[in-house]
Amino acid sequence: MAEKGTISINTENIFPIIKKFLYSDNEIFLRELVSNAVDATQKIKKLASIGEFNGELGDLKIKVAVDKDAKTITISDAGIGMSAEEIKKYINQIAFSGAKEFLEKYKEKTDTKEIIGQFGLGFYSAFMVAEQVEVISKNYKDEPAARWICDGSTEFEITDSDKAERGTDIVLHVSEESAEFLDNFKIKQILEKYGKFLPIEIEFDGNVINNPNPIWTKSPSELTDEDYLKFYKELYPFGEDPLFWIHLNVDYPFNLTGVLYFPKIKKDFQLNREKIQLYSRQVFITDDVKNVVPEFLQLLHGVIDSPDIPLNVSRSYLQADGNVKKINSHITKKVADKLSELYKNDRKAFEEKWESIGLFVKYGIISDDKFYDRAKDFTLLRNIDNQFFTFDEYKEKVKPNQTDKNETTVYLYANDKAKQDAYIESAKKREYDILLLDDVLDGHFINALESKLEKVTFKRVDSETLDKLIDKDIKIESVLTEDEKTKAEGIFKEFAGTNMVQIEALPTDELPVSIVLPEFMRRWKDMQAISGQAGMFGDMPLGLTIVSQGMLSGNDLTKFIQRSVETLQ
Ligand code: ADP
Repeated sequence: MAEKGTISINTENIFPIIKKFLYSDNEIFLRELVSNAVDATQKIKKLASIGEFNGELGDLKIKVAVDKDAKTITISDAGIGMSAEEIKKYINQIAFSGAKEFLEKYKEKTDTKEIIGQFGLGFYSAFMVAEQVEVISKNYKDEPAARWICDGSTEFEITDSDKAERGTDIVLHVSEESAEFLDNFKIKQILEKYGKFLPIEIEFDGNVINNPNPIWTKSPSELTDEDYLKFYKELYPFGEDPLFWIHLNVDYPFNLTGVLYFPKIKKDFQLNREKIQLYSRQVFITDDVKNVVPEFLQLLHGVIDSPDIPLNVSRSYLQADGNVKKINSHITKKVADKLSELYKNDRKAFEEKWESIGLFVKYGIISDDKFYDRAKDFTLLRNIDNQFFTFDEYKEKVKPNQTDKNETTVYLYANDKAKQDAYIESAKKREYDILLLDDVLDGHFINALESKLEKVTFKRVDSETLDKLIDKDIKIESVLTEDEKTKAEGIFKEFAGTNMVQIEALPTDELPVSIVLPEFMRRWKDMQAISGQAGMFGDMPLGLTIVSQGMLSGNDLTKFIQRSVETLQ
């Protein structure tokens, strides 16, 4: 018996979305079809568990096979299956989502998380690669099996089939243009990419390619540190062990699970924004999470799984999406809570990890005001003697000795311990404390802190002479006379090709003068160096660059000046 008919399409809402599929990666067809097979398998398991199906469940593995000669890709499951009537209902009416109906029907008994498809058109992505698609299916009620075939037009044909086992085979007759998919290696790659953690076993080429029970689906209480570390290796086989991790598990007001790992961040870290993997009900969606996770959190590694992140919508929509915003602030809060807990539980260990944690926290503070509020009590400042202070502790420590006439406390810092050694020594003689701020982000971090910490200003230890730095009335004896100083300044201005140079006396025996750049100018340069852009001072005269970069520094510089002064005399 054969029946012919016309597929009814609710074009208004479907075509724009199908187009979206068509314009994005073709390989998504496999994700969609395997997801359908997973859904069908979850459904039969569900029916068995609530006593609506009493037969043998049997082997529930989903099998994918490529037949190069026949030019087909077949996806087979032993799921719920479909009768001819059901195929007509679920497959033909593409605007009608069987998944939605199933959810309605079993609302009370099932967990929505278990059902992937909700759009009602995943199946049709098959036509992105196939010129003809067959559905051969037998349902769990043991009704006669059926075979449906369609060439992507609105015409279809449905006939009886002799399929004996429960379940569905989707046979794709791959089109000439998509012949690249008739390749075992390619299909394996796609399966591993999207299906690595699907909840039902997927067999390809004789092997199961997935881990159906990844740790984020389990309760933290069932898991040991080893489990987390093992999973990290599964995600990033070549990664160094992470420092710690956060297990996310939210049911309300949105659904979110996942494990985020805190990596060891190197001083010269490269921003790697492709580390966190986004899943929806264990189906891989993307590792480009920039619209879902705040920028500084993208330094984290791991997995987020949320069915509440809309997947097939534009970026601007995503950014405005309420759930995405809530997820963002939830993750930010969780990360801050974890850091705060680590800080409180073992400050020593926290300090030891500060090199990694610090970069992350600084990035957070620079880019997210809310994060600053959460982090301000555990953010640490480190001085050149390797002592750590919270903001409050540090203020208390240096306030008595480093507050200027305007009641502003000056935080002195060095960003190159070796080159600035003479300045550091001379500041120490005056019992000033010096912070070490030599991370790539510190220029921005200092700017952020100046706008947040009240009555605090940062000055690099060599940016002006110490009495000026703290703006106190201290008389300094210079080894150079006023006359010599003026001459030296003249030489330097010519050498550097700018009037920005000042020569100042230093209160130290070893270094009679210092060449200084105003603090603001230094900072510009430092920040430019990380952003790599040629900015305001990009074309600074060579001489000045040499001096400010310390190619002539300390003793050499001193000698150079003295020699120059002598020549003049
Ligand atoms: P969605 O999965 O988003 O509901 P699809 O277009 O992918 O939409 O599929 C439509 C419907 O067809 C599904 O909801 C399901 O009822 C049915 N279906 C698709 N594939 C299978 C399958 N392998 N086994 C059983 N039913 C299926």
